[in-house]
Amino acid sequence: MPILPDVKAYDALVVGMGPAGATTASQLSRAGLSVLGLDKAIHPRYKVCGGGLSARIDRILEDDYKSVVEHIIYGIQFSYRGADPFFLDSSSPIAYMVMRDRFDHFLVEKARRVGTEVHEDEPMTSCRQLPDGIEVTTDRGRYLAKVLIGADGANSLVAQQLFPGRRSRRMATLESEIPIGPAPHYPGTGRALIDIGATPAGYAWIFPKQERLSIGVGDLRGGLASPKKIFDQFVRDEKGLAPWKIPPPVGHPLPLFSEHSVAKDNRESIELVSGRALLVGDAAHLVDPLFGEGIYYAVRSGQLAAESILNQLNDQQRSLVDYEGAVRREIYEEFRVAARMASLVYSYPYLCYRLLPRYQHIVMLYYDVLRGRETYQTFYVRAKSVVKSSFKDLLLEAVSLR
Ligand SMILES: Cc1cc2nc3c(=O)[nH]c(=O)nc-3n(C[C@H](O)[C@H](O)[C@H](O)COP(=O)(O)OP(=O)(O)OC[C@H]3O[C@@H](n4cnc5c(N)ncnc54)[C@H](O)[C@@H]3O)c2cc1C
Repeated sequence: MPILPDVKAYDALVVGMGPAGATTASQLSRAGLSVLGLDKAIHPRYKVCGGGLSARIDRILEDDYKSVVEHIIYGIQFSYRGADPFFLDSSSPIAYMVMRDRFDHFLVEKARRVGTEVHEDEPMTSCRQLPDGIEVTTDRGRYLAKVLIGADGANSLVAQQLFPGRRSRRMATLESEIPIGPAPHYPGTGRALIDIGATPAGYAWIFPKQERLSIGVGDLRGGLASPKKIFDQFVRDEKGLAPWKIPPPVGHPLPLFSEHSVAKDNRESIELVSGRALLVGDAAHLVDPLFGEGIYYAVRSGQLAAESILNQLNDQQRSLVDYEGAVRREIYEEFRVAARMASLVYSYPYLCYRLLPRYQHIVMLYYDVLRGRETYQTFYVRAKSVVKSSFKDLLLEAVSLR
């Protein structure tokens, strides 16, 4: 492509250096590509997020990220509108808690160390497809790249400009960070809290960090009518929070995977690739519809995108669209099952909550999903068979009592 004197050219340009962008940039730089990573913020920057990494992240991140882990979670305390807590601990980690400013900064610095040129405080203002690449404009310059990665989060400008008409399903959430100093952890060392009755179709959480608690509410099915009221009610119901003054919560959209935005037969394009541009992480709506987990999928989609880009650059017979196939196989199949589970849990939250003590085995199995030892798909099959056989036992019990 002809290069104008005031234009800098790269093999790849990544817009947004959160977990999705920083991962893609690292992988491409390591493979020897020239990579520019743009971020509108300066890292370390605050990001509204619970910062809960499911332990399966160990399967896809090098171990050095543990240097920014603030708390290790072994079990969950479930409650329903602040009452009747039920907890189940386990012997190995199910999640790691991070503060996103430190975690994301760690990933950005890693990308920089392997060769990514990072420009912070430089938002992309526009981008357009050219016959053989992409042009990106910021207030500071113009750039050309053979491939563009849209990793600019829930309000992605790349998606708006290069994927017009893309349907999105963005849920409302509110979160606050309570500085607790060295006080003992609430709800208990090694434990996170999940309240599935706090919002009409979602949950509230307390995720412990080193000297902070991240607390929040999110509605995973249809958007909260009055999130602040629900947040305040959760804080009132949760008596363990009484000692602390709660800073005002901050809102952020959560772009959940939606069954309706993806063709059932998978034949239609799932719109993660357009010309020379790919979407990853929140920009691609890769957020688990059961509990709103997005960091794992941001990292993983960044890795899958990088693999497809490298394959395509090395072999012209390959296509960037291979990335869509990889996401479909590895992530969408999982999200479809998670969406089915969400539909059950958030339609009947009280019933599900009351059944938890009876089905501890299923909760443990879910912990294995978080550890990556089970997938949602294998979990679903096993859990169904446990429930089926326990109904049989119940029926037999009832018959014998007559
Ligand atoms: C309240 C809340 C709680 C959550 N809790 C959890 C949790 O506990 N666990 C979990 O796994 N997930 C959680 N999530 C989801 C998680 O935060 C996201 O899925 C994750 O941040 C996605 O990473 P990303 O890299 O795609 O996007 P982001 O982390 O949003 O990063 C996008 C980056 O792009 C930059 N950017 C944006 N626009 C531009 C532009 N025009 N030019 C240049 N740069 C730009 C931003 O500055 C940012 O650095 C939560 C989300 C919310 C809202």
